[in-house]
Amino acid sequence: MKVRKIPERRCLGCGVSYPKRDLIRVVRTPEGRIELDVTGKKNGRGAYICKNAECFKKARKKDRLKTSLGAAPSEEILDRIQKDIASVEASKASSEAPSKAPNESESGCE
Ligand SMILES: [Zn+2]
Repeated sequence: MKVRKIPERRCLGCGVSYPKRDLIRVVRTPEGRIELDVTGKKNGRGAYICKNAECFKKARKKDRLKTSLGAAPSEEILDRIQKDIASVEASKASSEAPSKAPNESESGCE
């Protein structure tokens, strides 16, 4: 029997391969729509980005999603990916550092 390897995919930002579950998948559905695939199970052509804001920025700036998927994702999708990455980064940060309420913005005096 063959050893089952964890499937790896290449990040569009840094070009490094990671296990699929460590990456964000963006999929082009058979209908031609670009969607964020949080389950990793949607049909279609997938593109992958690390859960890393720098990688996303790079991929976005260079239009790599469009190149890889054959169609450009909408701003809405790009925003969702960005938020998704931001929330992953925030949860990473809060598990390492003592949590500080992120919603409390500094308000000036009245
Ligand atoms: Zn990356």
